[in-house]
Amino acid sequence: MRIGIYDVDSKIPNLALMKIARYHLECGDNVEMFLPLAINSYDKIYASKVFDYTDGLYLDDDQMQIGGTGWNKSVALPDEIENLQPEYSIYDYPHNIGFTMRGCRFRCKFCVVPDKEGKAHSVKTIDEIWTQRNSNFVMLLDNDFFGNPDWSDRITEVHKHDLQVSFSQGLNIRIITDEQAKALASVEFRNMSGGKKQVHFAWDQWGKGTEKLIDEGFERVKSAGVKPYQMCFFVLVGWNTTEEQDLYRIDKLHGMGVDCFVMPFNRNERYQKALARWNNRFLWRNVPWKEYKYGDWGGC
Ligand code: SF4
Repeated sequence: MRIGIYDVDSKIPNLALMKIARYHLECGDNVEMFLPLAINSYDKIYASKVFDYTDGLYLDDDQMQIGGTGWNKSVALPDEIENLQPEYSIYDYPHNIGFTMRGCRFRCKFCVVPDKEGKAHSVKTIDEIWTQRNSNFVMLLDNDFFGNPDWSDRITEVHKHDLQVSFSQGLNIRIITDEQAKALASVEFRNMSGGKKQVHFAWDQWGKGTEKLIDEGFERVKSAGVKPYQMCFFVLVGWNTTEEQDLYRIDKLHGMGVDCFVMPFNRNERYQKALARWNNRFLWRNVPWKEYKYGDWGGC
């Protein structure tokens, strides 16, 4: 069979599609990245759409098996495919990607993880994920690394193999313990590309006590030895916060000396888009928000 793999919008190699590719290669099929002009030549096409806001121009429900959180949050791989190793060759990716855990200890209302994956639980060791051993870089997709009851064993493995590790979905700073902060500081953490020593956290919600928890977590991580410039906070806007609360969080994070990355809840909304552009492209260094917002800068 000729199998087409259609990655609509992933920013990193798509783990589910790589596992599907492995499955079909093991069945003796020909697997290739989907070419729209060749749509009628495939026996089967698998597509994944991760984000709500991308258009998925060539998606066709009749001709494709489609999954991904940007399409249907309830679609999951069958166990026989889920348990396979990813086929990195379809992306020519030299490093390693995987989950040591699934689920999350929290239940943020805007998030699909708790409903889809349940409570935090361990699924794989670093040894099992680190299959491309010519690379010492492992990107973890865990949503709640320290929620894994076996997290300290995973840290031990990272040390044992002298690996660089990216906690690509961020770590939960609100409940990070001293022990976990020290474990974080002890590893070679990296951003998603592996090019920068940086760890991500989030300040998504505005609510009683959240700021205090962020402050305490920040101090704990800093005391453990992580420098503020090695931290980046995702800031969700457009969910349940006002413009004033968004700017407060952004200003405060800039003042703490950490990077801050604005994530619009709705990327089609002008204010959210403009605020993300203003912050994420560092325009705030030269133009105050109010000036950007009401000026001819492409604001809103
Ligand atoms: S902490 Fe992150 S993964 Fe967990 S429910 Fe909240 S947004 Fe989702």
